[in-house]
Amino acid sequence: MGRKLLLEKAGIENIRQYDVYRQNGGYSAQEKAYKMAPADIIEEVKKSGLRGRGGAGFPTGLKWSFLAKPEGVPRYLVCNADESEPGTFKDRYLMEFLPHLFIEGLAISSYALGANTCYIYIRGEYAWIPDILEQAIAEARNAGFLGKNILGTGFDLEIYVQRGAGAYICGEETALLESLEGKRGNPRIKPPFPAVKGLWGCPTVVNNVETLAAVVPIINIGGEEYAKIGIGKSTGTKLISACGNINKPGVYEIDMTISVEEFLYSDEYCGGIPNGKRLKACIPGGSSVPIVPANLLLKTAKGEKRMMTYESLADGGFQTGTMMGSGGFIVLDEDQCVVRHTLTLARFYRHESCGQCSPCREGTGWMEKILQNIEYGKGKMSDIDLLWDIQSKIEGNTICPLGDAAAWPVAAAIRHFRDEFEWHVLNPEESQKRNFGLAHY
Ligand code: NAD
Ligand code: SF4
Repeated sequence: MGRKLLLEKAGIENIRQYDVYRQNGGYSAQEKAYKMAPADIIEEVKKSGLRGRGGAGFPTGLKWSFLAKPEGVPRYLVCNADESEPGTFKDRYLMEFLPHLFIEGLAISSYALGANTCYIYIRGEYAWIPDILEQAIAEARNAGFLGKNILGTGFDLEIYVQRGAGAYICGEETALLESLEGKRGNPRIKPPFPAVKGLWGCPTVVNNVETLAAVVPIINIGGEEYAKIGIGKSTGTKLISACGNINKPGVYEIDMTISVEEFLYSDEYCGGIPNGKRLKACIPGGSSVPIVPANLLLKTAKGEKRMMTYESLADGGFQTGTMMGSGGFIVLDEDQCVVRHTLTLARFYRHESCGQCSPCREGTGWMEKILQNIEYGKGKMSDIDLLWDIQSKIEGNTICPLGDAAAWPVAAAIRHFRDEFEWHVLNPEESQKRNFGLAHY
């Protein structure tokens, strides 16, 4: 049984309520942290090796240390709760079932950063969760863990919940800030990074829900202890949302010492693939990361066991590896059509492109049309090369990572499953009959 730091209390009845959370040790990390100097908390987070859990894996302590501190200018902590990556639903679990753990993480992090205002920007589709969070915020405030002069430190903190309107692009940190400022969610060019010029032009740290919740166990057990869990630079525990063709879909906390095979087949986690089917492929880190075929999922490019770590999942680069990403683990069994799956994703990215950059605006729609033709038996062999060409011209040529995220799934699908694309071209009649509709995650 792997170590649980975030979901340790998840099974306790009524843990969503303040009293129950408190009776079970809740808010003791905040009490401990508020006796520390803010710089020492940042040091603990650095020592822990915690990496951003939203998808990029950027070292959290380092990001915090980049926060500019000009005189007389407010600083903000913004929590990115706009979890919209297809296949990813682990932040929802934390916010829905352990809201006080999350709020405690925000309170500690805000204090460490000297931010008196914290915003939670939550995706619009999580319509029932803001009420849960607002209730937890009110309870924490009544108990003296938020508001004015918290725990007698002289530190004031207000947390506000802002609902998004259902746009995937508003999960990109600068689009999120634009939206929070009341504007259209168009990504900004970086640099400047939010740490220097963020919300209303002020220094801002933007962190994911799980990242901020992880600060609670880091303070409880200490950064060094946290760093001992895991392998290399993949320290601590990670939430994985698992879905697709598996026996036990759900949210799992893993310590990053287990293999992909163990995660997929053991009863503690996904429980294997239903009906004795074979594994075809997997997208281990949410829809933006490359799909990998079964043989490369379980073994790295070097022929070693692939582990559930940032480094091992990426081993082999984009040729044979993939990424930890947001931890949205999507499994495809032998019956799934990779072309149809790629079309589903292409449609999603075309719909969600904000339209600012031409390679993304034009390319995503173009790729969708070609994939639609191939999937439904109207494609040509030359379309496969055209698709490859289009994705290669989007990658790296856009303002924000949505362009790359739209290109990579297409590239990886062609790289590893070209024969399936060719099958559709060579068998137009059968392709036309196979009208499954779109895949859903
Ligand atoms: P990024 O690598 O551009 O940035 C990571 C973070 O580090 C950002 O907060 C950035 O501001 C900060 N940073 C980087 N260099 C910095 C510097 N020199 N100074 C100060 N700050 C610096 O990646 P990103 O755009 O934040 O995230 C992309 C990832 O998001 C993708 O890989 C994907 O996996 C993931 N994603 C997740 C979801 C979700 O729902 N969880 C949705 C879409 C994409
Ligand atoms: Fe908008 Fe796409 Fe450009 Fe991102 S890459 S800014 S989503 S057009």
